[in-house]
Amino acid sequence: MNHQLNILPFEQWCNNGQQPLFISGPCSAESLEQVMATAKAIDTLGKVKVFRAGIWKPRTRPNAFEGQGEEGLKWLQQVQQETSLKTAVEVASPAHVELCLKYGVDMLWLGARTVVNPFSVQEIADSLVGVDIPVMVKNPINPDLALWIGALERINQAGITKLMAIHRGFDFLKRSPFRNAPMWELPIELKRLIPELPIIVDPSHIAGKRELIFDISQKALDLDMNGLMIETHINPMVALTDAAQQLFPDMLKELLDKLVVRRQRGNYDFQHKLEELRSEIDKLDAVLIDTLSQRFKVVDEIGHYKYENNISIFQLKRWSNILHDRVEQGEAQGLDADFLLKMLQLVHKESIARQDKIYHKEEE
Ligand code: PEP
Ligand code: MN
Repeated sequence: MNHQLNILPFEQWCNNGQQPLFISGPCSAESLEQVMATAKAIDTLGKVKVFRAGIWKPRTRPNAFEGQGEEGLKWLQQVQQETSLKTAVEVASPAHVELCLKYGVDMLWLGARTVVNPFSVQEIADSLVGVDIPVMVKNPINPDLALWIGALERINQAGITKLMAIHRGFDFLKRSPFRNAPMWELPIELKRLIPELPIIVDPSHIAGKRELIFDISQKALDLDMNGLMIETHINPMVALTDAAQQLFPDMLKELLDKLVVRRQRGNYDFQHKLEELRSEIDKLDAVLIDTLSQRFKVVDEIGHYKYENNISIFQLKRWSNILHDRVEQGEAQGLDADFLLKMLQLVHKESIARQDKIYHKEEE
């Protein structure tokens, strides 16, 4: 399957190319006071670039808080005016898209419950035709990579080139410590299939509880993911949604300060030295392959010679001597005995197989 997406490189449109990108904000926009207090506390930290807030909340059962709707979008406008933060909102229908555009929301995302339904995703995609806005696509609730990619393709085919994926875990292993099992192999496979697509990790919805969020965040960065979306609330104790997983602003500060951002690529000197060492490895591997090739030529010659003189292929004494001598020599040169044993067994197996083939050919 071809997964070519026509997307703009991250560096050209997002955060001056600076990675990781940090997105944070409450699960839901609840009141003007809650939104502004949270946004200002996050903005002060200086590391977060985008303020997230749910305006329409997908709830499992009716009669729960379902978000503030249009009113909340006005609060987000105030966030844009009074802080340095951009804003991001979940959209689940063309009507949501229309309202977000009307109030100038900076980024949109599709939630996990929406992405499971290609009809909904297509409707949202259709409503985005001709609009230039960054869109993030969360993984579907179930661990189905094709469905996730399909949603990304639908949004991309509508002309959205500022595109990112959000990994928020999968509803899979009910007895895991996580609310949604991370199943890292899926985002890793997504990266392998579409390397140019940035992936943001949402540790809050993976964790389901505050205590696990740091470890998931660090793991995400260690796996070379491109950013984090973390739920933060001015007072999570009274949050109307996802109370157990939202951080207090000072917990977010502690987390961001503690995170170790490792580099994919080093500076020029590092890169230069690395290239030098790698080219040395390339040369040594070439010698290794050349030596093996020559060795097997001699093995073949011995095979013919043994056949002509009617001698059996396997010679126990010779094999025992080889093992003993080579392991001793290798160990003296710093190689591990177990590794040497495995390598010699592999070479010996191949030698026997080649000579066996020679015997069969001669008999034909
Ligand atoms: C959210 O981001 O608050 C949300 C509803 O997340 P998800 O779609 O990942 O469940
Ligand atoms: Mn939430």
